Amino acid sequence: MRIFDPHIHMTSRTTDDYERMAAAGVRAVVEPAFWLGQPRTSAASFTDYFDSLIGWEPFRAGQFGVRHFATIALNPKEANDPRCRPVLDLLRRYLDKDAVVAVGEIGYDSMTPEEDEAFAAQLALAVAYELPALVHTPHRDKARGCERTLAVVAESGIDAGRVVVDHLNEVTVKLVRDSGCWLGFSIYPDTKMTPQRMVELLREYGTERMLVNSAADWGRSDPLLTRATGEAMLLAGFSDDDVDKVLWRNPVEFYGQSGRLDLSDLDVAAAVDPQTGNSILRGGS
Ligand SMILES: [Zn+2]
Repeated sequence: MRIFDPHIHMTSRTTDDYERMAAAGVRAVVEPAFWLGQPRTSAASFTDYFDSLIGWEPFRAGQFGVRHFATIALNPKEANDPRCRPVLDLLRRYLDKDAVVAVGEIGYDSMTPEEDEAFAAQLALAVAYELPALVHTPHRDKARGCERTLAVVAESGIDAGRVVVDHLNEVTVKLVRDSGCWLGFSIYPDTKMTPQRMVELLREYGTERMLVNSAADWGRSDPLLTRATGEAMLLAGFSDDDVDKVLWRNPVEFYGQSGRLDLSDLDVAAAVDPQTGNSILRGGS
């Protein structure tokens, strides 16, 4: 099983995680810029963070055979802090970099006017830099947050096919599906979406435009839940090809729209199904 985790915060994880992920089949990851838990007190603090997302972290991942890409943005939560607003002026410097495959994560946390403004401004940057956008949806008041998110996306003029709306669940899946955006699902250890619930959604809505991630970070989370979801799919009767589409080809297609997703000489030859011995190299890489 070859796996591309399209949303994971590796900065918060240990090398043990990289080792376990590589052993589980994870060959590529996208790390979105986000909140560190501790509020940052100046834009300069973001400069160091962004530099590590495109420098140190890809190097660290590479030691385990994992290809690492980043998305860069001022996250929704810190968009509310006036000390962090100047980050919006820093972004252009990073959106030109090869390791950056989207603008993100952007969107809403508490749905404040400040968040509105930062969200719209960064969607405009995605359009200007011809990059996809990774959009976070709030964990509280999900349906309303999602509706408002889709309205802002539509208003921005960005092509819906270049936007993933993330952290979806049973309540929000249909709204986003009907919008033409990609659908992101974060699988968590014991709250929100689980592998089993994800399998039910894949049964009902199919595998098109579906992205599954672990969103693992400094909170309670598990970087192997992408693999667990693939296994739950197989148990439920999905084929190896379905799993490969959801866990590899879909994220490759989505982030490939950046024109920067270089997966050449990646060790996907290891992605041979241990049960069948079949190579699953076909397509998408
Ligand atoms: Zn995240």
